[in-house]
Amino acid sequence: MAVAYKCGDLPGMAPCPAEFTTDTEAELWEHIAVHARRAHNIDSSSMPPEIKNKISSLFRRLSEPASDQSS
Ligand SMILES: [Zn+2]
Repeated sequence: MAVAYKCGDLPGMAPCPAEFTTDTEAELWEHIAVHARRAHNIDSSSMPPEIKNKISSLFRRLSEPASDQSS
């Protein structure tokens, strides 16, 4: 099951257009960590736990990949 995150969903990151979709939450966190450092100059290893909790509460589970329909 894919999981998606929009950076702009996090209060305070409003104008950020970044959006990620991966197969697993672990991979999603890797993308967020790279993006946070590059775009927001935030080191995710020093990110407060309440921010991480907030981010993971904004993850969206996507049930089916729409493009997997061959007949
Ligand atoms: Zn961002």
